[in-house]
Amino acid sequence: MTSATNQPHVVIVGAGLGGLQAARRLKRANVRVTVVDRGTSHLFQPLLYQCATGLLSEGAISSPIRHLLKRQRNAHVVLGEAEALDAQERTLTVCRPDESTMEIGYDYLVVAVGMRTAYHGNDEFAQFAPGMKTLDDALAIRRRIIGAFEVAESIPDAESRREWLTFAVSGGGPTGVEIAGQIRELATLALEHEFRTIDPSEARVLLLHGGDRVLPSFSPKLSRRAQHILDELGVETHLGVHVTDVTAEDVETTTKAEPKQVVRYPTRTTLWTAGVEAVPFAGVVARALGVEQGRGGRIPVEADLSVAGHPDVWVVGDMSSRDNLPGVAEVAMQGGRHAGAVIAHLADGGTDRAPFKYRDFGSAAYIARRHAVVESGKLDLYGYLGWVAWGVIHIAFLAGMRNRLGTVLNWSATLLTDSRRERAITFGDPETARQPYR
Ligand SMILES: Cc1cc2nc3c(=O)[nH]c(=O)nc-3n(C[C@H](O)[C@H](O)[C@H](O)COP(=O)(O)OP(=O)(O)OC[C@H]3O[C@@H](n4cnc5c(N)ncnc54)[C@H](O)[C@@H]3O)c2cc1C
Repeated sequence: MTSATNQPHVVIVGAGLGGLQAARRLKRANVRVTVVDRGTSHLFQPLLYQCATGLLSEGAISSPIRHLLKRQRNAHVVLGEAEALDAQERTLTVCRPDESTMEIGYDYLVVAVGMRTAYHGNDEFAQFAPGMKTLDDALAIRRRIIGAFEVAESIPDAESRREWLTFAVSGGGPTGVEIAGQIRELATLALEHEFRTIDPSEARVLLLHGGDRVLPSFSPKLSRRAQHILDELGVETHLGVHVTDVTAEDVETTTKAEPKQVVRYPTRTTLWTAGVEAVPFAGVVARALGVEQGRGGRIPVEADLSVAGHPDVWVVGDMSSRDNLPGVAEVAMQGGRHAGAVIAHLADGGTDRAPFKYRDFGSAAYIARRHAVVESGKLDLYGYLGWVAWGVIHIAFLAGMRNRLGTVLNWSATLLTDSRRERAITFGDPETARQPYR
């Protein structure tokens, strides 16, 4: 890609929450912007579990990157996966979907490629226990959950039926709690009266968590509230347990207290929400810039979010590591905006770099309808109030008015009728189409 003007060229890798904000912050800056992403859509990950359980469509939680940037005349979009970086030549190599490559020169580079699911040295679990980071993950999980009820309906043997109606979720952080609660709500409300042989409300949902309380990033009081609602929903929580094996037919755990005591739960559906690690491109960036990756493969950054010794490269969002900031949406969005602001200033001839200051607005997790927890400074919200606050926050963060309105309509319809209409399952890769529920 060659330069058509003398304006500095800013390349942003990743159009997630951090990358999109960086691009938008550069709208009026004296620069050209190229946004590279391996997908065509900007995804709002915090609602992935609602897509996986048939509440929202994939279109409701994602927006085409080109559409989001169509009024930003200085922005170009490239579909492709960044796979190599030459920091001396300031060149990024991108692999297009047809596997051809292109080189893109930059004056400033912003890397915002996020994280992926971590199996902590047990990558063989991935084939049986999908994580939840991408749209593909959400659709694969939907296929397994909906498929499990369908298979159970036509199986005469009661024990096998029970296996198909058992769902194990590994990890009791926000995503694990949210998906576990949603499976119970799907089973008890949305699927009621739809099956003739099975009673979907008998679905057993196991929440397997290594810590001593769910939602460990929230206060103990909100954890207890969340646990109480999970108990009421019928989620079976096991604390202090490690998942030591996952197969197509069961999940194995040991307890921290008695490591030799092995328990196997027969289940056909295991989901994995127990950790994240940097995507492979983080390793490419670290090697090219000569820095050591930190916790989970994150890249350490300076006060202005640029990389030490490389004042022309910024790393923002989940993949960057500074002051133990959490991997949450606000950190990514504010970080993206900050990198954009510093670059705009430099492009205007500025030389100083403002440090990044994170404003913590708090965190929120959905437990069940009319129940969510929100923690912001000294303010703790739970129950109905927490649920309303959670809804407002998530609608405000969704990209695009159409998605916001559509989501509010969908939530309202679900509340009024208990139904979930986004339950279509796809068969994914034709290679695996013969085993759509695996
Ligand atoms: C299931 C789930 C629920 C969550 N819930 C909440 C919540 O309730 N509240 C909250 O604050 N946070 C939540 N988060 C965290 C929040 O979504 C992340 O902190 C945020 O998305 C991080 O933004 P990012 O820009 O760093 O990465 P991402 O948003 O992950 O974006 C990364 C982008 O980079 C692209 N990419 C990756 N590799 C390449 C490559 N090599 N080349 C080109 N493009 C590439 C990807 O396609 C993607 O578009 C949740 C996350 C998940 C997964």
